[in-house]
Amino acid sequence: MTVHRDQDRVVTNNTKSLPKDYFKDQVGWNNWDMEGSIPRRKTRPVWVGDVCIGGGSPVVVQSMINEDTLQIDRCVTAIRNLHEAGCEIVRLTVPSLAHAYAVGFIKQKLKETYQDVPLVADVHHNGLKIALEVAKHVEKVRINPGLYVFEKRDPNRTEYTKKEFQSMKDKLKETLKPLIVTLRDQGKAMRIGVNHGSLSERMLFTFGDTPQGMVESALECIRVCEELDFHNLVISMKASKVPVMLAAYRLLAKRMDEEGFHYPFHLGVTEAGDGEYGRIKSTLGIGTLLAEGIGDTIRVSLTEDPVKEISVCYGILQGLGLRRTMVEYVACPSCGRTLFHIEDVLHQVREATKHMPGLSIAVMGCIVNGPGEMADADYGYVGKTRGYISLYRGKEEIRVVKEEYGVKELINLLKQDGVWKDPPYEANGANEQHADMFSGGNGKP
Ligand code: SF4
Repeated sequence: MTVHRDQDRVVTNNTKSLPKDYFKDQVGWNNWDMEGSIPRRKTRPVWVGDVCIGGGSPVVVQSMINEDTLQIDRCVTAIRNLHEAGCEIVRLTVPSLAHAYAVGFIKQKLKETYQDVPLVADVHHNGLKIALEVAKHVEKVRINPGLYVFEKRDPNRTEYTKKEFQSMKDKLKETLKPLIVTLRDQGKAMRIGVNHGSLSERMLFTFGDTPQGMVESALECIRVCEELDFHNLVISMKASKVPVMLAAYRLLAKRMDEEGFHYPFHLGVTEAGDGEYGRIKSTLGIGTLLAEGIGDTIRVSLTEDPVKEISVCYGILQGLGLRRTMVEYVACPSCGRTLFHIEDVLHQVREATKHMPGLSIAVMGCIVNGPGEMADADYGYVGKTRGYISLYRGKEEIRVVKEEYGVKELINLLKQDGVWKDPPYEANGANEQHADMFSGGNGKP
């Protein structure tokens, strides 16, 4: 089956190669910097609208709106806000058939008033009819295999026989088949989203509430999809405990390699909470796996405005060298040798240059250790002697200037080298005012 996306792209059910400029055009930024990077687990590409997950493409950032899906205008605004913040795929919840119809209106309104943002529908308990309806309107459907097929819990049960286990697997296949067939035939994707804490009863009885139970649940669902020749799959193994989540993803990667499944992974720590600790937990879980080469799309789940999740995602990806969506600042912690107020200068350098993602700039307190330790930076601002700083291009000292002109001269060096880009607001004539901020207001170096 072939699905045409646009003139330059032809999708042949996940077998096409990525267009040459894909890594640039995904978010419109220079985000492809894999030099010296982590070898990543090989996965097949899965397309969600115009965004590719896996297949060597940049790790995709996604999130979920927290509006009621019946509130169409609010949802359109929330999706747009997330997308404008850098979220490439947006999920929304679809708990009923009415919500599934509402997604059709949301999609239409997005196209009319903004753009065709790739959407994922989260379908819940016993969701066949809902899933079939919403699959017409979105690019990906997420199901939880532990909840998708209704299993009445029996409080007196002490075991599942092999026969009972198999018959539930058959029921899973029968229930999933219509959804799989429609997604397959439309060239759309599905996430098999297993969550620790919502495994089916037979998985709990057979494997326990363990990473192994999560993995077996996902594998069973993957096999059903394979039997129906459906391969547009993304898999997740979320848990709120970081060690459980790590163990589940690692075990799944191992088992999938053994079985010859190469589906991409969606990473996340579910219910991570808010604030600093929520960010730390998400970074530990997602970052650890990415550092091992596991993971193709990420969602940081915070109990906050979802827009705030996006900068955390990008921080994780940039910190691991997987994407470059920001300027990389290298700065020493300062010590008794520091020759200027490094916090102030770092702030000024950041304000002056933060609009040039892809660049790496070092701010170092002294020349004793600074030039050596900033070795990988493209440019450096280093304390030379009291009242003077040195500007570096890579390891080469280019000029020594008075401290008060340091930031302005750094900008001049970037201009001289042809790497400077005017910040967006300079188009309105604020250019000179911007430069004066760093020159003591007199405009002279
Ligand atoms: Fe101290 Fe210099 Fe190292 Fe900065 S670079 S921490 S000022 S020795």
